[in-house]
Amino acid sequence: MKKGLLIVVSAPSGCGKGTILKQILKDQKYYYSVSVTTRQPRHGEIDGVHYHFMQEAKFEELISQNAFLEYAKYCDHYYGSLLAPIETNLAAGKHVILEIEVKGAMQIRKLRPEAKFIFIAPPSIDILRKRLEGRGTEDAETIEKRVRQAEEELAYQNQYDYCIINDILEHAISDFQMIVRAEELRTQSENL
Ligand code: 5GP
Repeated sequence: MKKGLLIVVSAPSGCGKGTILKQILKDQKYYYSVSVTTRQPRHGEIDGVHYHFMQEAKFEELISQNAFLEYAKYCDHYYGSLLAPIETNLAAGKHVILEIEVKGAMQIRKLRPEAKFIFIAPPSIDILRKRLEGRGTEDAETIEKRVRQAEEELAYQNQYDYCIINDILEHAISDFQMIVRAEELRTQSENL
């Protein structure tokens, strides 16, 4: 069986990454890696679906057991990708999507050079701020923190194989699909 692609997706929060991935994941050829986090669930988030929500002590126990492919601290909370389900799904031929921030992505660049890296960028920082405000899930201070974080993250976009600008949602979705299709068709693919 041909192994699936390991696809790492990063985007500053508020870039519409969630909306794009929701469409992409309707295709059964993908498996979304549900991360573990120590942050509190936001309104509407379901344990085991959006994240595995966990206390810090338990997260640190998983670190000591080498259960993570990568993990990072972001805005004072741990986030990590569990290794076992990733391996199982790649072996089953699924394309595994990791939706992670830049530090974790850079760890994977070293560990898994065959992974494909996609960055999703907002059309501008101003538009990003407006989107975060419109979401209404965070207070002003948290939004400012996230905007500053976004500016830092945007500096990393050249380290990714592809950058999708999420201006028109349908275009961003088809850009994503085209990138994956092109990777599937590569003659030099490490997965052949
Ligand atoms: P949020 O709290 O907005 O859901 O996520 C904050 C950031 O953490 C986002 O950039 C998200 O992609 C990233 N993130 C989510 N899961 C993981 C993970 O398993 N590892 C790493 N390194 N980052 C993650």
